[in-house]
Amino acid sequence: MKKIAIIGVTGSIGSQAVDVIEKNPDLFSLTLVSSHSNADKLVEVANRHKVPIVCFSGKNPPSKDSFNYPCELITGENALVAAAENADYDVFLNAVVGIDALRPTLIAMSKGARIALSNKEMLVSAGEYVMRMKDEFKSEIVPVDSEHSAIFQCLAAGRFSDVDALIITSSGGAFRDVPLDELDNVSPERALAHPNWNMGKKITIDCATMVNKGFEVIEAKHLFRLPFEKIETVLHRESVVHSMVRFADGATIAQLSSPDMRLPIQYAFTYPERVASPVKPLKTPFSLTFEEIDLNRYPCFRILLEAGKKGGLYPAAMLAADAVLVPAYLEGAIKYSDIAKTLEIVLNEFSLKGEYGLADVLRINDEIEKYTRNVVKKL
Ligand code: NDP
Ligand code: MG
Repeated sequence: MKKIAIIGVTGSIGSQAVDVIEKNPDLFSLTLVSSHSNADKLVEVANRHKVPIVCFSGKNPPSKDSFNYPCELITGENALVAAAENADYDVFLNAVVGIDALRPTLIAMSKGARIALSNKEMLVSAGEYVMRMKDEFKSEIVPVDSEHSAIFQCLAAGRFSDVDALIITSSGGAFRDVPLDELDNVSPERALAHPNWNMGKKITIDCATMVNKGFEVIEAKHLFRLPFEKIETVLHRESVVHSMVRFADGATIAQLSSPDMRLPIQYAFTYPERVASPVKPLKTPFSLTFEEIDLNRYPCFRILLEAGKKGGLYPAAMLAADAVLVPAYLEGAIKYSDIAKTLEIVLNEFSLKGEYGLADVLRINDEIEKYTRNVVKKL
């Protein structure tokens, strides 16, 4: 029986992870769950699974009486850190959105647990630091983001030293066919209609702008320790090929499956084994298409790649700015095109090259968020 900790259990990934666990009750048991604002759902999952440690990191925590069994309830600002320290787990799934789960995940690494990594922000904002810590703790990260999980699976087909390139696929998001002259002012409702995946609002907007794909290229660079020149991207409408690896002899290995996050979540739990899953198998025949990504359509993607290549704290700055811009766009405070415009301003306004530590990441996150809020006010 594998002991699983899920931080961010109430979210889109967290809920699907609970489903994976419930479909395999003989394989997995939940030993830690956390949420930040949704107390009801947290209590419901905890009561159903009798989870020994329950963590609520936001305001208005649930009361001790909400639980129908004896558990340790940890609340308050540093709750996640304490929970990661106190709980017992083999796999630690980071399904929290944002960078607040960075410290607890580092604690899980230091304890020797496998990190099932869904959270993108950790590698985007502090990839070099996180990978340094991974080496220091000799810990294992198994990616959950579908593209990185696909690459992780494809890499099993050859020696890492024989990898020629990683090929990351992108669906193109909601605006892949919208005429370019309409893109200045498209509505959030249209942006939220992702053609293939059903996800949280933030990541769905990031797919429409392709900020998400920029993040994923940066994540891949850190996770697989390859230079940007060896990471290619391609538009693939069907979201069936989740990514590919080309080897030195020209053989290209791809991972194909229905667009369902429960597969990469489960694989991160069971790797290197595979067990039956609730994911609908692909039925042949089906057709696949691949197209070049048009950077005129996706200026945010171009900006993110530039930030990635500049390195240092530039990706962290993009992340912080985007975290302000997406809600502003969803609330109707800014236009769609203001997202790219503001990211470009942040990219050019700050000097963020060079080595950094954890404190620098947290400082620059606050600084850029504040700066972006001011830019948004003037738009
Ligand atoms: P959701 O917004 O659906 O869920 C986020 C979870 O994190 C919730 O449990 C939420 O708690 C918790 N949370 C939010 N803020 C904080 C905080 N400050 N401190 C601690 N916990 C917090 O996000 P997703 O599940 O969509 O995504 C999670 C991560 O996985 C993101 O980094 C995303 O980019 C990545 N990802 C998601 C994919 C998807 O299909 N959804 C695919 C690939 C990657 P509460 O509900 O109580 O507020
Ligand atoms: Mg992805």
